[in-house]
Amino acid sequence: MDIDFEKLIHLQNLDSEIGKISLSLENIPPQIEEINVKIEKSFQIVSLAKEKMAQNQKKRRELEAEVKDIKEHVAKYKRQLNEVKTNKEYSLLLKEIEEGQQKVDKLEEEIISEMLSADEIEEEIKMSDQRYTEAEDKFSKEKEVLNQKIRKMEEKREKLTQEKKELTPHIPSEQVKLYLKIFNNKKQIALSPVKDDFCSMCHMRIRPQVLNELKGKKEIYLCENCGRILYWPK
Ligand SMILES: [Zn+2]
Repeated sequence: MDIDFEKLIHLQNLDSEIGKISLSLENIPPQIEEINVKIEKSFQIVSLAKEKMAQNQKKRRELEAEVKDIKEHVAKYKRQLNEVKTNKEYSLLLKEIEEGQQKVDKLEEEIISEMLSADEIEEEIKMSDQRYTEAEDKFSKEKEVLNQKIRKMEEKREKLTQEKKELTPHIPSEQVKLYLKIFNNKKQIALSPVKDDFCSMCHMRIRPQVLNELKGKKEIYLCENCGRILYWPK
């Protein structure tokens, strides 16, 4: 059967390029996902700092409520000092007042410590928020570059696919069938140029008689080892 090697080689080239583009396209979504994870992590640091601040404020409110409560009790005991009848009652009240005052002092120290922590957390929020904004900006740009890459590759693939569509009807259908059969079975490479008397795909030596036939470029010869369509390169 006469064979148009030029067209088959063209078809193989188109398929190889389409395959390469498809493979590259598969690699991009995981890269975008990786970027999304980085953005998310950066955002989590801000959320954590804000959560810390919420805890700090809650603690402060609790401490302040406790102080207020004790101060009210102390004030009440102080008023009662004028009304007590016995020394024993008087000294008991004094003891309560003193203990209350001590508790208030201790709690107020804790409040100051929480306030100092709040300043630090405030700074943490500011810094992490700034870093998050910067990261989001940087990573959004990276994502845009990748998305542009996808669009360009898809366009290219579309163009090549169209070219293939136009080329295929010009090749005898039984040759296309054979090509496809080998293409699908042999890792998407159906053709193998002869190089230094060897099949360039599997490196099997080709018989001299076949070599002579191949130079005539008239018929299909399959590599006896790998089964690909052999051709004599220009
Ligand atoms: Zn071979």
